[in-house]
Amino acid sequence: MTLSIIVHGGAKTISDDKAKANTAGCLAAVEAGWSILTGGGSAKDAVEAAIRVLEDNPTFNASIGATLDSDGEVSLDAAMMEGSTLGWGGVAAVQGIPHPISVARKIMEDKSMLLVSRGAERFAREHGDEMCAPRDLISDEQRREWEEQEAVLDRPATVGCVALDADGNLVAGTSTGGLANQPSGRVGDSALVGCGLYADNNLGACSTTGDGESIIPVVLAKTATDSMAGNTHPEKAAQKAIDTLISKVSGEAGCILIDHQGRIGWAYNSQDMAVAYMTTEMDSPAVFTNKEAESNLQAEALVFSKA
Ligand code: ASP
Repeated sequence: MTLSIIVHGGAKTISDDKAKANTAGCLAAVEAGWSILTGGGSAKDAVEAAIRVLEDNPTFNASIGATLDSDGEVSLDAAMMEGSTLGWGGVAAVQGIPHPISVARKIMEDKSMLLVSRGAERFAREHGDEMCAPRDLISDEQRREWEEQEAVLDRPATVGCVALDADGNLVAGTSTGGLANQPSGRVGDSALVGCGLYADNNLGACSTTGDGESIIPVVLAKTATDSMAGNTHPEKAAQKAIDTLISKVSGEAGCILIDHQGRIGWAYNSQDMAVAYMTTEMDSPAVFTNKEAESNLQAEALVFSKA
């Protein structure tokens, strides 16, 4: 059985000085998920572990390091979906939760639903999830950019992960702080099944990133997953989904895919997208900030070996 895992650190523009932080962060996330998969763990555990690593990293727009909304607050969305049952769980517009992906997973395992704001925070508290003061998730960099209303070139973006485990289960997860300076109360695509993520063991699974208002009307994650029908390679399916978005709405987006055979695909129309992945077919993980840049294939000292 092929094991596979892919993570993204968001569709965005990555300046040279942020490239290393992006590749190191994505590799650390893949490593966390990969060690679970190779240890016989589930895709759910792998996706949760990988996304928690990205949530803990202020380089990315999830949890600490998330962009601030119009009120100068961090408000988070996350979801997980499993392809064996089509079960899913999501949280949106939550504050003071350092690991929204873990809460989304607990909801998925309890009863599929999307919980928002206070109700989601109550669920998290009642289920023993880690909580913090909402301001603890505001990084100095994000606070400064918000105060100065800087036009940020390399705006942080959403994180996501897709994994296939030894039992053939596919799981997708996505976690985000939304868009920089978004109106207070806005919720994008990331926690919406079909838009920010999708998983179906018979086809494949997908996590997306980018402009939620463009991703939602083309149900990007479901569009990409459906494009893997008929044994279509995920690489082709990912590009087809992005082409659909380009042809129907304007906006930037990216998606990562794994099919039921463990094959990997990804595509984006933003300037860059941080991606790392590993499968049993590979000796070491691949990592990119830009698909066209060959040099990104070299993970240099950051490479970890196959378990
Ligand atoms: N998709 C996220 C949203 O619209 C943002 C992102 O991926 O950068 O909330």
